[in-house]
Amino acid sequence: MSAASSHLLICSCEKTMPLDAQAIGRGCAGRITQANQLCGLELERFKQALVDGAPITVACTQEAPLFREVAENFPQAQLTFVNIRETGGWSNDAAAAGPKAAALIAAADEDMPPISLVTLESNGVALIYGRDEIAIEAAQRLADRLDITVLLTRPGDVTPRRINEFPVVKGTIRNARGHLGRFELDIDDYALPLPSSRAKLVFGPARDGATSSCELILDLSGGVPMFPAHDLRPGYLRADPRDRAAVERAVADAGGLVGTFDKPRYIHFEESLCAHSRSGITGCTRCLDLCPTGAITPNGDSVVIDANVCAGCGSCASVCPTGAASYSLPSADALMRRLRALLQTYRKAGGSNAVVLFHDGEHGDDMIDALARFGAGLPANVLPLRVNEVTQLGAENIAAVFAYGGAGVAVLARARPRHDILGLCVSSRPTIRTNSASSSMQRPLASRRKSRPALFHAARNVACLRPHSVNSTSLPPSPSMWCRWLPAHRSAA
Ligand code: SF4
Ligand code: SF4
Repeated sequence: MSAASSHLLICSCEKTMPLDAQAIGRGCAGRITQANQLCGLELERFKQALVDGAPITVACTQEAPLFREVAENFPQAQLTFVNIRETGGWSNDAAAAGPKAAALIAAADEDMPPISLVTLESNGVALIYGRDEIAIEAAQRLADRLDITVLLTRPGDVTPRRINEFPVVKGTIRNARGHLGRFELDIDDYALPLPSSRAKLVFGPARDGATSSCELILDLSGGVPMFPAHDLRPGYLRADPRDRAAVERAVADAGGLVGTFDKPRYIHFEESLCAHSRSGITGCTRCLDLCPTGAITPNGDSVVIDANVCAGCGSCASVCPTGAASYSLPSADALMRRLRALLQTYRKAGGSNAVVLFHDGEHGDDMIDALARFGAGLPANVLPLRVNEVTQLGAENIAAVFAYGGAGVAVLARARPRHDILGLCVSSRPTIRTNSASSSMQRPLASRRKSRPALFHAARNVACLRPHSVNSTSLPPSPSMWCRWLPAHRSAA
């Protein structure tokens, strides 16, 4: 977006937060209109901006659906929404949050490249894997929506059904590969039931090494999961058969897995840059060692990444030494541009001592929102920056914060991370430590928890680091010299 020709609409949300238009004006080019209730009494100002035709940035995300609806008659309208309320205005530090608001607006105005998608397709060919009647009951409930086969592993006494609406066979899955739309299974002890089974299912002669395929798997066997990071494998649903509620949820989810499903292509891979192997000598296995889903496999001199299986943690990209694997949501280049706009605008608007708080969209947004509504809000110098997964961050992102003039970095992770955060520690070592792992790395931060402000009490896993000295125009000599742990309240001082 051309900042100089854009129209920025900022709103005090019914005067619940101060608007420092001067600071925002110092940081952001273009025309600025102030309002106190832009979504209601002053909606005309938004409509007038639409008529004017310049790209519009609205500093409100809560009412974005309303503004989009109003803009429906202006198909050429370029709209950007940015939250400066929960992230800055609703804070004990709100009076000083003008430079932060300018920074957040500038960062939001940076164009992000479109996301490439992969499509998974399922016609509903399902395997229900279990031990007993629970699997058969689940199959009966799904039979009108899915094409079902029930595979019973080491079954006990199972009463035959009067009418065979779906096949029930015996077997134990030895190996499973694939994803929603294309699973392949190796099965041992495979046998068909005798049609004359009377009081209980009786199976014929069994054989090992059978193969089968299906498009989704509902695993009610109560055994070991078929996949690493099984809850991230598209098309694989698993529930403990003793937990009726979990079985209900899994059955409901399975019923919805028919159709086409798009997911982002999280990783861009440049095979020519991969240092996995040359002349039969293994050079690098970093991504192979860290990938939680098994999406990466060796492929001669390089590796191959299955985008259908990849769950988007970004660990591979964060540890890849050559850039062969890079994150796409957004691309490294786009994230750097956003980071640069954030920090340079903050300084231009008069801010100092910036701490960039990286967070994700679900947990991180919720935490920041809760802190603004029920707590003290974020400090004025803490600049939240949402990424897809905090595990996508690499050392280059941390270094960039300091290169662009930041004074510190904090990472807001989940108490129970969706993805292993080991990659975050590896890629940024020794600059990032976390208190979620059971390693010794947790101790320095955990021991300081009492001295941290509300946000850092609320978020059990926060990494905070800071350079010994910051020079906004050049990088300090080495990471180990420019970063060390500090309690967050000192970063915010
Ligand atoms: S982003 Fe995560 S899940 Fe995907 S290939 Fe890389 S390490 Fe594996
Ligand atoms: S981490 Fe990078 S260079 Fe190493 S094997 Fe994986 S893709 Fe190749």
